Amino acid sequence: MSLKTLLPGGPSVKAGQQTTLGVMGGGQLGRMFVQAAQAMGYFTVVLDPDPSSPAGLISHHHIKAAYDDEQGLAQLVQRCDAITTEFENVPAAALATLAASRTVAPSAACVAVAQDRAREKAHFEQCASISGVSPAPHTIITTDASLQAVPADLLPGILKTTRMGYDGKGQVRVSTREQLAAAWDDLDKVPCVLEKMLKLRAECSVIVARGADGQVASFPVQKNTHNDGILALTEVYDGALDATLAQRAQASTVAIANHLHYVGVLCVEYFVVEEAGGALDLVVNEMAPRPHNSGHYTQNACDVSQFEAQVRALAGLPLPTPRQHSPSTMVNLLGDLWFAPNATRAQASQQPVSPPWAAVLALPGTHLHLYGKLGARPGRKMGHLNITGSSVAQVRETTAQVLAVLGLPTLDA
Ligand code: ADP
Ligand code: MG
Repeated sequence: MSLKTLLPGGPSVKAGQQTTLGVMGGGQLGRMFVQAAQAMGYFTVVLDPDPSSPAGLISHHHIKAAYDDEQGLAQLVQRCDAITTEFENVPAAALATLAASRTVAPSAACVAVAQDRAREKAHFEQCASISGVSPAPHTIITTDASLQAVPADLLPGILKTTRMGYDGKGQVRVSTREQLAAAWDDLDKVPCVLEKMLKLRAECSVIVARGADGQVASFPVQKNTHNDGILALTEVYDGALDATLAQRAQASTVAIANHLHYVGVLCVEYFVVEEAGGALDLVVNEMAPRPHNSGHYTQNACDVSQFEAQVRALAGLPLPTPRQHSPSTMVNLLGDLWFAPNATRAQASQQPVSPPWAAVLALPGTHLHLYGKLGARPGRKMGHLNITGSSVAQVRETTAQVLAVLGLPTLDA
């Protein structure tokens, strides 16, 4: 695909002729894309059916329509010079419709691979011959025969729906064939991937931005800690991860993006696993065709954020290698923080209280990002805190203080 360069409109541009970037989806990722685009002088349009979507609330224009609504898509085409997406479950057919007359990045074809764990794993396996990083041992279950044929050494394992899973949803851990059969039944026998359960030593992810000309900018490797399947903490500083593994993860991510002829921002997640002899190895898990929660630290710790990189890739602007200027962590702020720690759900729904932001912001190098969501709920992503400092020790110290102030679990030693 070739993309033309779309510079932001200058002072001579007439009203209605500004260079305009559109985004499918109005969640927090769309909001931060809109903020980055507006900072560079672009006009923005968001398509999202929710009248109070975080991105719709701040965009120049908000088309309140379903993602497959023909009129909504036609309006988006009419208003925008180029269009991106902020979530992977956007209908690939809608992106293909938009691409008939507008620049769309990432392409419908790339998004379709990321939407389907089976296709994603097949792509990773093809790239493994170049990168040396393979996915977990797995098999695809689509029929009773394929269920019967599951090799015994994939158990215990994790059964994952091939489509629509996120934040640990659409996944069941199974130890025996009986549990596997029952779990697949519970999932209405939709197509699934069964993955061998691995012993994880750590999780990490890499974000790259790739332009239509093939230029790839790779961000530093992030170490991620999840709670209940939801990202809780990202750490990005020297020593957070083994340097050799981090280099391999970056090289693998570039190979995965290149091999797809990907245009836009791509995040690939990895597991660090312990081999039989005790050596550490890398396993590629999944990818997201968009900026990622684990890349939010780039807003305050890098000279180009993942959202600015998304704007640049979409607009065909240069993508120099981003530089991380500060060691950093990112703490996710879930809706649970708005409620007393021991409140029942019924109490919680009645008495949300604002978390102690003043105490958090009194600590050096704390950067608060809230998404403007109306209504905190347990488990809902409400915002994040980026923490930067002049040294690793200082960032870790501030992070420990932030976690204590918020009543969140402490950092590992
Ligand atoms: P999601 O789309 O929900 O993020 P993932 O495939 O990333 O789905 O799985 C969520 C989490 O479950 C991972 O971050 C990891 O902690 C754990 N997990 C997933 N697959 C495996 C596996 N094969 N072995 C061990 N843990 C796994
Ligand atoms: Mg994941």
